[in-house]
Parts: sequence; C-alpha cells; structure tokens
Amino acid sequence: MGGVQVAPGTRARAEIPVARRTTGEWAFLPVEVVHGSREGPAVWLSGAIHGDELDGVEIIRQVLGRLRAPSMAGTVLAVPVVNVFGFSNENRYLPDRRDLNRSFPGGARGSMASRLAHLFMKEVVSLCDVGLDFHCGSDGRENHPQVRCNLDDPETREYARAFAAPITIHNRPPDGSLRKAALKEGARVLVYEAGEVGRFTPSAIETGVAGTLRLLRSLGMVGGDAVDEPSTLEVRETYWIRANRSGVFRVSVALGEHVEKGQHLGSIADTLGDEGRPVRARTAGMVIGRRVNPLVYQGEAVVHVASLDGSPLE
Ligand SMILES: [Zn+2]
Repeated sequence: MGGVQVAPGTRARAEIPVARRTTGEWAFLPVEVVHGSREGPAVWLSGAIHGDELDGVEIIRQVLGRLRAPSMAGTVLAVPVVNVFGFSNENRYLPDRRDLNRSFPGGARGSMASRLAHLFMKEVVSLCDVGLDFHCGSDGRENHPQVRCNLDDPETREYARAFAAPITIHNRPPDGSLRKAALKEGARVLVYEAGEVGRFTPSAIETGVAGTLRLLRSLGMVGGDAVDEPSTLEVRETYWIRANRSGVFRVSVALGEHVEKGQHLGSIADTLGDEGRPVRARTAGMVIGRRVNPLVYQGEAVVHVASLDGSPLE
C-alpha cells in the first residue's frame, strides 16, 4: 500500500499522495495498516470524510492502540482523516466546496472531491470486505450514538448487532455517499453517527471504540472476552421536527431520552422571553439528534426522533 509492504503480523503506515497543496507540498492520505498474522477479513475504518468531524479521528486512534498485529487475524486499514484538505481547514467540505460524501465513487479526472473519492475507493475500499465510516451531527446539531445501515442484509445486521450502538437505523444511503459506492463494490458498511463537529464528545468516542472492538471480535479478528454484550434497538423510521417559528429554541429533552407521543420537547420563543410555541413529539420514540445552536429559523430541523410506534403522524 502506497509503496509500503506490510508483512503478516506487523503494522506500518503508508502515505498515499493525494495532490499538491497550493503552497507546493504534497498532501498525503495517511493509512495505518495492521496486518494480522492469520488470515481473516479486511476492514477499513474511515474518519473525517467531513473535515470538521473529529470524534471518528479519535475513535480510530484509540482502536489502533488496542490492536496487536501478531495476535490478530485479517487486516485493518485505518484512515482517520480522509478529507485531508477539509481537516486542515477545519471545514466540512473540500476547498472546492464540494461534499466528499456526495462525490463517491468519483473519478480520476473529475473535480477535486471526485478524485479524492476515487483514490479512496481504489486504494482502500477495493481491498476490504467491511467498512466502518465515522460521522458527527452537522450544522449546529449533535447526534446520539447510532449506526445507520441496511438491516435487510443478514450479515450487515449481524455486524450492527455486534457493534451494538444504542440504536441502529435502517435506511438507504444517499447518492454519492461512500456507503452507497462501497455497497456497489460488494463491501458491507456501517455508518456510525455520534457527537457534533469541531469537538470531542467523550460518550460518542467511548461508544464508538467499544462498538468497533466488538465488531472486530465478532469477525474473529481480535480476541478478548465478551464481558459486555449490549443490545441495540433497531428502527426503520425517523423524523425531524422542524421549527414552527423563528426565534430562540430551548430544548428540554436529552439525547437518548424516550419520549411519548405529544410530549413537550422544547419551545421556541423570541429574545425577550415570551411564552413561546411548544415543540412536540409526533410519535413515541427516542431522541437521536437535536439542535445545539439555539437560534433557529422557521423550518429548521430542531429534534430528530427515532419512531418506536410505526409511522409518524403528519
Ligand atoms: Zn459526516
């Protein structure tokens, strides 16, 4: 990988050239290869496809600290920072303002984002059976730790159950996403969403590290005792509650909280503190995302609920 040979039972870092920066030096995609001494699956771990989503970077660092190539089966390809340009600019996008996670599978002659997507597909995804892609809530929102995947595929479902995030959401991957492009190449992918941009969220990191190690263990790649075997709640229906007026949003529910149909989740008032208009749950469910920036315009998404009693009421 990237001109580096990694013998079984060892680990090494490869640096794959992406493009020169405008200042002339090369930008590299750093890939840590942990090559187990025994045969087994190949798994990639990817972080910071959105350059300002940092929890995944830390999750991957901590997981790498727990892996021992001589006692491992299979291979882990760890890429803590995929969007190297966005990461150094502390920005979600690439310098060409494209979203890397809408640019897959990309092409060698396309836009900057498209080329980086293509490089990642060729150098990493094409070698792997399973992928874990780490993300955070964006645009002033935070996410409760959750896995998004295709629960209709029995193997993917097994992986999600092994990872055991508090909640697993069945959904279709968006066009241009890494998950969609990798599925087409025959890989199985879990997307882990937790925390918020521009900071570390300790609970999101802890859940992500533990889930990743459980998944690697269930794949037979790492040993260790099955001391804690949490279960995950599987859901197929989620909905955002949108602001019914502009103003200052005060949220009154926590991430992961179970709510009843019609429950008061917060209110939106003006700056002088009028009583405000309540925001209510349309179904019973679990709060899986919420806005952290209190300033909202009418129509903005404020609370994300995983529905636990069928389809939401309109
Ligand atoms: Zn993201």
